[in-house]
Amino acid sequence: MTAGPIERFQTLLRIPTISHSDESLTDWAQFDLFISELARLYPALHATLDLEIIAGHSLLYRWKGSADGAPTVLMAHYDVVPADDEGWDYPPFAATLVGEGDDTLVWGRGTLDDKGALVSVLEAVERLVSSGFVPQNDVYLSFGHNEETAGDGAAAIVAVLEGRGIRPALVIDEGGAIAEGVFPGVTAPVAYVGVSEKGITTLVLSVDQVGGHASTPPKLTATARLARAITRLTAKPFPARFSPTNIEMITRLGAHAAGPLGVVFRNLWLTKPLLLAVFTRLGDETNALVRTTQAVTRLSGSAAANVLAERATATVNIRVAVGSSVDESVAHIRRVIRDELVAIEVLESSEPSPVSPSSGAAWELITSQVESTYPGTLASPYIQLGASDSRRYTAISDHVYRFSPFEMSKDERATLHARNERIHLATWLRGIEFYVGLIERV
Ligand SMILES: [Zn+2]
Repeated sequence: MTAGPIERFQTLLRIPTISHSDESLTDWAQFDLFISELARLYPALHATLDLEIIAGHSLLYRWKGSADGAPTVLMAHYDVVPADDEGWDYPPFAATLVGEGDDTLVWGRGTLDDKGALVSVLEAVERLVSSGFVPQNDVYLSFGHNEETAGDGAAAIVAVLEGRGIRPALVIDEGGAIAEGVFPGVTAPVAYVGVSEKGITTLVLSVDQVGGHASTPPKLTATARLARAITRLTAKPFPARFSPTNIEMITRLGAHAAGPLGVVFRNLWLTKPLLLAVFTRLGDETNALVRTTQAVTRLSGSAAANVLAERATATVNIRVAVGSSVDESVAHIRRVIRDELVAIEVLESSEPSPVSPSSGAAWELITSQVESTYPGTLASPYIQLGASDSRRYTAISDHVYRFSPFEMSKDERATLHARNERIHLATWLRGIEFYVGLIERV
């Protein structure tokens, strides 16, 4: 019996390649096993493409093209976030097939994020290599091993390519997907193709004060001063505005919206201020689309119930909107807190990514392939809210897109980094067709 794509997908899902922020906790034997299983499961690919292992466990495959034009890079990552059996309907690393026919689901950690894309790329390449196909220009497969944590695997791959003077014509990584019912008033499925992603800044706010016994507190303790700063932050969110990408999304998709909403979308010259207010109130996702966001994620005070804090700290995670900057965000925070006794330290920062064009050859290649794999699907650019490895590639390519060629329902998207992650088998198999079609045309 020869195993097919589904069995190979299951084999790779069953290897718990779990990323830990503290890499000393990572079980590297699983990563070694994953790499050796790739060689066993995809023999034609491994006989034809060159493989370099970079930064310990990241993988860079090169498929030599017949010409020497700018290459295409297909990205994915094979590390996953932790999961234990608790709260899962089927265990996270069992790759259980659930349901029948068109409704069959593959259940498990990594099905959406991001072994689903990684394995469908491998399936597409294996099939094409086996049929004797040679791409016109080079195709690279760039598979990171620690996207969920440090991300330095992908950064190291980019450094290698940059050192060789390589400028990809097209880079595709995880990010958007095909979804229904996200954009108000539009019933057709839409392929959301990420053209940029927000930046990240992590700040620590701290207040230092002479401690003492809690029985004789000063008027404003360190913790109370910190709390006041947090309240001020929460009361004054970053300003909302539509970026050019937001406007393009509204214009493109609004043209297909029915009813009164459609009228609003098609008359932006008049309705823009109203619409902006709607976006900020409609939900957390639409709100995050139109502004820099801030979230206080950690707090600390004193170690005992009857001791005043000598130092109180709050960690603030900021997602910087495209069009703004880390400096601008920190300045806003400083202004809003308006208290010199609250110190602000920048722990880490990365600027928003440059915006890839939503027209031209690279864009047309992706969207026309969506149309042929998923007929009747609209396409729109969007700005990805979370960070991905693809931002590293913006250093060497102007055409970096974040899109996984799978249909994902709202319920399924909610399982990303959560319990019961799963994908429909039918859409996963179609994803293979997407990559086959794409590679044939690069
Ligand atoms: Zn991911």
